[in-house]
Amino acid sequence: MTCRVEVAMGNNMAWIEEALRELREKNLYTTIRTVASPQGPWLEVDGRQVLNFCSNNYLGLASDARLVRAAQEACERFGVGPAAVRTIAGTLALHLELETSLARFKEVEATLLFQSGFCANLGTIPALVGAGDAIFSDELNHASIIDGCRLSRAEIIRYPHNDPAGLRSLLEEHRAHYRRALLITDGVFSMDGDIAPLPELVALAEEFDCMTMVDDAHGEGVLGRDGRGIVHHFGLQGKVDVEVGTLSKAFGVVGGYVAGKALIIEWLRQRARPFLFSSAMTPADTAACLAAVSILEENDALVSKLWKNTYYFKDQMQLLGFDLGQSVTPITPLMLKDEMLTQRFSQRLFEEGIFATAIAYPTVPLGKARIRFMLSAVHEREHMDEALTIIARVGRELEVIR
Ligand SMILES: *Cc1c(COP(=O)(O)O)cnc(C)c1O
Repeated sequence: MTCRVEVAMGNNMAWIEEALRELREKNLYTTIRTVASPQGPWLEVDGRQVLNFCSNNYLGLASDARLVRAAQEACERFGVGPAAVRTIAGTLALHLELETSLARFKEVEATLLFQSGFCANLGTIPALVGAGDAIFSDELNHASIIDGCRLSRAEIIRYPHNDPAGLRSLLEEHRAHYRRALLITDGVFSMDGDIAPLPELVALAEEFDCMTMVDDAHGEGVLGRDGRGIVHHFGLQGKVDVEVGTLSKAFGVVGGYVAGKALIIEWLRQRARPFLFSSAMTPADTAACLAAVSILEENDALVSKLWKNTYYFKDQMQLLGFDLGQSVTPITPLMLKDEMLTQRFSQRLFEEGIFATAIAYPTVPLGKARIRFMLSAVHEREHMDEALTIIARVGRELEVIR
């Protein structure tokens, strides 16, 4: 009896070994590197010092002393864990303070915290649409949007990337067949660094009676006045129904939130499942985020440094002859197209002390592989110059540039 069970278990798991072997054979196996230093311009990765062009730490807040102190003080006052979900005993005064301060920063009526941006999408989309409704979703939207859409059971209609004309014809064809509709897009697309044509999308949503939702994970702390995000960038305050944000990129900590009309936020408090069934953000994270928002409200020093670095690095890369695709943000893809070349380029950069990730299928389509350089306010001119020298050398070595 025991023996038979063991044999069955062995067979049960064999498919995983097979699937893993296949990933390795196709060069699609993700190797996870280990960081042993705080986030900054340099990182200690797998035992070596490398220049960091990988992190989403746009403003350098992940290791900012003011955030660290705020987190320490919150631990001492409130302990380490929330000990409950928000709706039972997990709502701290600190959470409400952060929600108020984010609402002021984003200039919206209200916000609601989630444990991550991923959770914010999973919670929000199914609360807004369900069976019998439709979602019009950009074909390159983030995985957490895709999963949120699937969980909702609404019909998902993917429109061509950043293409209002393509969206219009899909709206004309399908909108009338559904009860409610939600138009949803990333603000900044994380693999290409391009941004959604929000004014055109909002106009279409009004014309075809759709709710609008923007995921601004890579826009906050980056776009708009003092980093208020893509809605401010386009001057569309009050015109987008729901914004999803993350506290783990420019804000430097971890967590997510939804920003919008008070009515929607009230509804999410009743219906968003990760809010109802998963524990609250920790006191330390919440306090660190509060410190991050005040730093952004104080002045735009970090946001302007981020953009100064972005313009410098991208200009130099273009002068060297590299193809940076459609990017208009600090996300800087070096388009190499070929998967093997991209792996090789990234590996050579790492050997030379530059940490920048290779991004290939299935994260981007086959034949669209690239290396993604992330700029940050932590970079100084000397860091970028050192990196540019090495990138140029490797580029010549691999015959990408001459
Ligand atoms: C990173 C990202 C998320 C996830 O945010 P987390 O807070 O890390 O869970 C969601 N949406 C988009 C567009 C992102 O880039």
